[in-house]
Amino acid sequence: MTNSEMPDSLDANSFYIEGADIADTKAPQVPIDRRWEERRFGARLVNPANRRKLSVIIVGSGLAGSSAAATLGEAGYNVKCFCYQDSPRRAHSIAAQGGINAAKNYRNDGDSVYRLFYDTVKGGDFRARESNVYRLAEVSVEIIDQCVAQGVPFAREYGGLLDNRSFGGVQVSRTFYARGQTGQQLLIGAYQALERQIAAETVEMHTRHEMLELIVVDGRARGVVIRDMVTGGIETHFADAVVLATGGYGNVFYLSTNAVGCNVTATWRAHRKGAYFANPCFTQIHPTCIPVSGEHQSKLTLMSESLRNDGRIWVPKSGEDKRDPREIPEQDRDYYLERIYPSFGNLVPRDIASRAAKNVCDEGRGVGPGGLGVYLDFADAIARLGRPAVETKYGNLFNMYAQITGEDPYQTPMRIYPAVHYTMGGLWVDYDLQASIPGLYVTGEANFSDHGANRLGASALMQGLADGYFVLPSTINDYLADGPFPKVDESHPAALEAVEAVSARIDKLLSVNGSRTVDSFHKELGRVMWDYCGMERSEEGLRKALTRIRELKKEFWSDVRVLGTNEELNQALERAGRVADFFELGELMCIDSLVRRESCGGHFRVESQTPDGEALRDDDGFAYVSAWEFSGDDRRPVLHKEPLVYEYVEMKQRSYK
Ligand SMILES: Cc1cc2nc3c(=O)[nH]c(=O)nc-3n(C[C@H](O)[C@H](O)[C@H](O)COP(=O)(O)OP(=O)(O)OC[C@H]3O[C@@H](n4cnc5c(N)ncnc54)[C@H](O)[C@@H]3O)c2cc1C
Repeated sequence: MTNSEMPDSLDANSFYIEGADIADTKAPQVPIDRRWEERRFGARLVNPANRRKLSVIIVGSGLAGSSAAATLGEAGYNVKCFCYQDSPRRAHSIAAQGGINAAKNYRNDGDSVYRLFYDTVKGGDFRARESNVYRLAEVSVEIIDQCVAQGVPFAREYGGLLDNRSFGGVQVSRTFYARGQTGQQLLIGAYQALERQIAAETVEMHTRHEMLELIVVDGRARGVVIRDMVTGGIETHFADAVVLATGGYGNVFYLSTNAVGCNVTATWRAHRKGAYFANPCFTQIHPTCIPVSGEHQSKLTLMSESLRNDGRIWVPKSGEDKRDPREIPEQDRDYYLERIYPSFGNLVPRDIASRAAKNVCDEGRGVGPGGLGVYLDFADAIARLGRPAVETKYGNLFNMYAQITGEDPYQTPMRIYPAVHYTMGGLWVDYDLQASIPGLYVTGEANFSDHGANRLGASALMQGLADGYFVLPSTINDYLADGPFPKVDESHPAALEAVEAVSARIDKLLSVNGSRTVDSFHKELGRVMWDYCGMERSEEGLRKALTRIRELKKEFWSDVRVLGTNEELNQALERAGRVADFFELGELMCIDSLVRRESCGGHFRVESQTPDGEALRDDDGFAYVSAWEFSGDDRRPVLHKEPLVYEYVEMKQRSYK
């Protein structure tokens, strides 16, 4: 069979081609606690006078992008930074509620760098790279100092020391927080640092500008094609290196807790230009979200995991019990997480809590409309701590819940259900955060790096800021030390070709003039993804999904209706380009899921479970990162495996019992 034929055969292998194994070659081969120090020392430096001759493009100004732009600007590089919002302060990072982890051990409860490393490797179900995770744990302690120095108002105890709380999958208190607005406060800190560099003219900020293509010259990432979202103007920008800090792709599911604008376009376009996409099927479904209330919704709302510190999760013991929850006595309630997982209780990791919620709902014991909900109850906490203490800790989250549902969570338990929240997959990067295209770096949620098959709560902010403030600024020098690279401008054939591709695609989207809205396609794609590539995946379901996604993609290109023109602010056109990329990504996610015939973390294959319904890994067959290479439209993608080796944490079946 030729590569260009897409198969209907029942063999998962016929959906892809097996390529050569790959490996990270940047992490030094020394004991794990010396690797980062050794790499930092080994990476070449660029002297301050030469930094002024070098330029870096950073796409994205959320926590990962603005921290990198501010730090590289301060170092003296010429930085251009782009985002599609009207201000860096509106990046999706602002939505982060619960907190940021760091191994400070302020509580003296047994925490350490090693324990954070261990918890993260185990929490990720042994599908993350040990070297990266150890470095993340090491750097975590510096992040808190950096943010405190910036004036981030972390919560403090009565005596003035920084306060901590716990998140899922751990037995220590290491999460630093600013009420339920941690992301917002951290972003304001990073934004201030960025603004300072904008004023110092080391960073040139371009808001309302969307990257639509990567420009690769002689095998190196050298620039981007950008659309001015207000005028429709197509621009090219060039630099010695390009950084993508463009966030996650959870919105492929249409309904998620992500901001509505979050999309995959930047990383997907880079993927099509040669950057490997790693573990695309690793999606995190968060257990505590406000349940879907109807067909009208375009977004779901998270109730922070921090609520599981004091809230207790339960359903009635009997599915027939339709009483008001306050009237259901203790003996008729099933606090199922406390029952099944006594050591971690309500603070089991997200993948485990989500699946457990799904299981009790599948048994017919779910609460609320459609039976798709479980209770998160604060009655005990209010009785124990008093309402003012609960208000101080979680007040804004309670208000948000009350505004959305019309119910008062101080009086009656919240109703929650799992929803798509975060994507552990992303562009493949080595220890230096460099993608498989030299000169392309990827930070924050956009890379696949540190979380394996399941991210622990409060670790995304930690990773985004570790990447932007500390890791990238130490590793990118090693690449830039060979620069400045030969000058490239808009007349270069690679630039002309990239601009032509962007313009042709926009023209095509505007000319279909069909009968269906972009949103109707996105909604249908999301439904297919949720039903077949969501909380539970099966061989049969994934095959169905692949067939339907391919049909839908065809229909999209022949029947989508995008009104307006390119030369204006045109949100339908913006969305159309993003949804077109979601179709291609959705297909790869299903293929990745199909090939990974094991369960691990958030990737639950029904065919691979323990007798009591837990995820059953197959370490002999699948202890690898899947790094996918694009090989052309309608051609099978190539799978490169990066074998994962565990030298420091013993691989075993996870247990939170
Ligand atoms: C509701 C919610 C609550 C959360 N709470 C927590 C928490 O408490 N703790 C925790 O650790 N994590 C939390 N997370 C996860 C965390 O917020 C994110 O993973 C993290 O903020 C992502 O940061 P980022 O900088 O990588 O991306 P983002 O903040 O998404 O920023 C992406 C940037 O890229 C830009 N961009 C994207 N594409 C393009 C393009 N094509 N052209 C130009 N610009 C582009 C955007 O404009 C934006 O500036 C939460 C997530 C959600 C959804």
